[in-house]
Amino acid sequence: MTTPHYRPTHAIIDLNAIKENVRHLKGFLQPEVQIMAVVKANAYGHGDVEVAGAAIEAGATILAVATPDEALHLRKHFPNIDILVLGYSPVTFAKVAADENITLTVYSSDWVNSVQFNSDKLLKLHIKIDSGMGRIGVTTIEELLTLFSDIKKTSNLIVDGIFTHFATADEEDESYFEKQVEKFEKLVQMLPEKPRIIHAANTATMLIKDKHLQYDAVRFGISMYGLAPSSYVKGKLPFPIKQAFSLETELVAVKLLQKGESVGYGATFTAEEPMYVGTLPIGYADGMIRKLSGQEVLIDGKRVPIIGRICMDQCMIALPSAYNVGEKVILIGKQNEEEITIDEWAAKVETINYEIPCIITTRVPRIYY
Ligand code: PLP
Repeated sequence: MTTPHYRPTHAIIDLNAIKENVRHLKGFLQPEVQIMAVVKANAYGHGDVEVAGAAIEAGATILAVATPDEALHLRKHFPNIDILVLGYSPVTFAKVAADENITLTVYSSDWVNSVQFNSDKLLKLHIKIDSGMGRIGVTTIEELLTLFSDIKKTSNLIVDGIFTHFATADEEDESYFEKQVEKFEKLVQMLPEKPRIIHAANTATMLIKDKHLQYDAVRFGISMYGLAPSSYVKGKLPFPIKQAFSLETELVAVKLLQKGESVGYGATFTAEEPMYVGTLPIGYADGMIRKLSGQEVLIDGKRVPIIGRICMDQCMIALPSAYNVGEKVILIGKQNEEEITIDEWAAKVETINYEIPCIITTRVPRIYY
């Protein structure tokens, strides 16, 4: 049973856009390359179960998450699909992972040597190579070979894959990226046997770099949600992508402000002439951070600004005329000919588009169509 929501503020997730983006990618990839749908962080704030279902329906064959808990949550809904945890898992998770057929990332012999569990199932591992992110992963040939042989020596463990992550794939300057590719390929070649799945490509790599870097699988993240990882990649996209996330609310109060009257905490906005002001039931506790003051929203197909400071649960907008309570307001998305994109919000708060749907808190219900 779904919980009813009474506050008229919600994120709308267009699952057809997700499916379309996955299908376009499938048509673009080399044959046999698998699509790993990156659904970590609640599918970049879009909703992990719903997005994973849409991605699988459109052709993704593996799900990638960041944490053991994210993997377990998805396993309940998808009993058969391969799930890879890209980040750290404690050794205490090893037995559960084996029992639940969840693949883990490994990068330390200490970790392998301290894993002990009884199970009739094998635990599948993907070795992470740190080719230049400076995050997690083995960095030298010696470390890699020791790790590989330690895994081979341990019953219940199996090397299923090997991968790396690129730090600058979305930038025009390719020098650092090329160094990472060279290091990754050099290390992979040193292995006595090729693991089943080699993967390295994030969105930028799979879309704008040499096709051989698609290897056996690609990790489709930001563009699955219809967003480009950078303006450089946006200008080079090989197929159109469609933004899946929009954010809507309604006017809950409308008032006429007289000249000299102010709005919000600190009374930072003062009317210079009589004007209509609308109140929206969304605030910084919903992820609408105070830096978004001044950002435009859409009402009746027109752009109007947020005025004054954003409160915890509400904010105020300047209205061009007297609208009725209940009038729809688009914070992110399209209305008539106008559109407010996630990229526009990201520019306003000086961050990347990845961060925007992630910071819209769980208090905002996600509605799917
Ligand atoms: N692979 C790893 C290890 C990641 O951390 C991420 C995203 O943070 C991705 C793949 C997906 O990258 P993108 O969203 O740029 O496609």
